[in-house]
Amino acid sequence: MKTAVQSLLLALLLLAVAVSGIQCKSQGDKEEGNAANPAAAPLRPDIAAAAGELSKAMSDLGLEKGDPRALVLTNAGYGKIDGKTTEAFADAVPSVSGCSIGKRSLFFLHTPISAPFWFALYRRDTGDLAFCSWTGGKFEVQKIKAKSELLADRKAMSQAATGTAARFFFQILSFADAWKQGVEWDLLKCAEFHNHRCGGVTGGYLAGKYILSKFPLREGEHYVFVTTAPACPIDAIQVMFDATAGKKKLFSTRMSDDEAAKYEVDGVRPMVIVMRVNDLTDACEGLVLGLSRGAFRGEAAASKDGDRDELECVKVLKAFSGDSTLAAKLAETGSNPCAVVWGE
Ligand SMILES: [Zn+2]
Repeated sequence: MKTAVQSLLLALLLLAVAVSGIQCKSQGDKEEGNAANPAAAPLRPDIAAAAGELSKAMSDLGLEKGDPRALVLTNAGYGKIDGKTTEAFADAVPSVSGCSIGKRSLFFLHTPISAPFWFALYRRDTGDLAFCSWTGGKFEVQKIKAKSELLADRKAMSQAATGTAARFFFQILSFADAWKQGVEWDLLKCAEFHNHRCGGVTGGYLAGKYILSKFPLREGEHYVFVTTAPACPIDAIQVMFDATAGKKKLFSTRMSDDEAAKYEVDGVRPMVIVMRVNDLTDACEGLVLGLSRGAFRGEAAASKDGDRDELECVKVLKAFSGDSTLAAKLAETGSNPCAVVWGE
């Protein structure tokens, strides 16, 4: 009898704990929801003001919340308002415009953390752009006709925007154009880090795709990259392979034009050396890659509408192999990595 009462009490106790657990969880969920929803949680006044400017820009450009023609680019999270960080704007954007990371309509262009906060709202079909930036004490908004044709006319592009917008206009326009073309997500991520889309970052992206497809890692291997010129393609390689200089996976050397010309094959100069290194088996295999200008479609490359093999512009200038210390030799300061590969 006693045991039956104890069992009943225990069952009631467990039920109570379970119910209170459910309640706690639902309350916790609600709190998380509030924190993620700027409409429910009060925004810092300057962020709320920026969100208000975005809302005004939406109606100025004739865009409703959730309009698939809208793109928001911003340096929120890097740029500052009166020395204060601006990551909260990232939550305000979806609630005001419907643009979001998941919908591929919100991107964070890399700027120095000392840069003033800005955002740009772009309308795909008209090329209308509203640029809003913190100019110290207030937000300033400019409306710009951001036609893609400006990318081919640097002079007209420099005249299209003034003030703070002029400083960031090429970055915004080149990225918005890539987005409009529907280029691949991974290339957009490279361009987001690089803070613009250009032929160089596209070329680096294609070289990265070539490596993944034709020179994949096997068990126990890791990549090491040595670049022969510090230029735009390298940023794509860093993003695609998480091969940053700080992690000793990418080393940048600078060959002079005359030096680079010595290793030209069919008019193509070395751009990056990629190595598959296996420390356990003490082996290294590498390729010297270049980009063929003739086959490279530049900024139009890697868009969905290409009908030819986009990787045909990536040329292997030389294949080589050695022990695992070869990668370190190529990366040595002051050395000419091509001279090491060509055995000079
Ligand atoms: Zn570039």
